[in-house]
Amino acid sequence: MKRFLLAVALLAAAAAAHGSLPEHRPAPGGVAVIELGDAGQPRPQALYQDEPVLVVQAHGQWHAIVGIGLDAEPGEAAVTVDGERHGFTIRDRTYAEQRITLENDEYVSPGEETLERIRSDHRRIHAARDTRSARTPDDLAFRLPLEGTFTSPFGLRRFFNDQPRNPHSGLDIAAEAGTPVRAPAAGEVIETGDYFFNGRTVFVDHGSGLVTMYCHLQDIRVATGDTVAPGDTLGTVGATGRVTGPHLHWTVYLNSQAVDPLLFVAGEDATYNDADDD
Ligand SMILES: [Zn+2]
Repeated sequence: MKRFLLAVALLAAAAAAHGSLPEHRPAPGGVAVIELGDAGQPRPQALYQDEPVLVVQAHGQWHAIVGIGLDAEPGEAAVTVDGERHGFTIRDRTYAEQRITLENDEYVSPGEETLERIRSDHRRIHAARDTRSARTPDDLAFRLPLEGTFTSPFGLRRFFNDQPRNPHSGLDIAAEAGTPVRAPAAGEVIETGDYFFNGRTVFVDHGSGLVTMYCHLQDIRVATGDTVAPGDTLGTVGATGRVTGPHLHWTVYLNSQAVDPLLFVAGEDATYNDADDD
């Protein structure tokens, strides 16, 4: 009887996981989930700002899953399928401020040699971020890459030593150095490296423009070309790169835009970082 109930529970979990969608939050740093029509029809190709976006099937419908940049302007937007518009509104959203003090000024105002390294890092990081593989993600329900304390939320407007810098492109999860960091979903490792700001880093491609990035690792346990299943260890939590302590910085890129990772994690409240919440 127990075994039967377990089997039923597993089937129910599998059914829920398959065809799950991220949270619809059409705002800067969010995700728009746009219904495109009956899944009985062939998979449509959807474009957003003239670039193809992820299209998945759920609840008998095709959906476009669109990453909205942190720098997007609120207002009317649309995905198009064969020239037909599916409009949506990008809402306004204000993220909280974060001020960080760093002892090492090289991380705030890098010298020329370091700038050259940063530029070469960026070329590799952007190439990984911009990957559009033909695979379709098996599942858009991510598990958390580790158990830890959410420290810096996604989207914070950041100042290092009082100087404005790029907004926080991921979620920081603090844990003891050496804690395993696990793949949140199936994918392929497309890049690993040791970058000036991000430290030791792994990129996983989940397909069709959905790419995740794991930074500041102590060590890396995978190599480019490896296939990973949900829960596989990618590396361990560390404090490499621009950090104030050991933590994982986790970024989710969708059509090259960094979006709030918690929109993909069922049961996690992705509104915790609203500026007007505290
Ligand atoms: Zn971070």
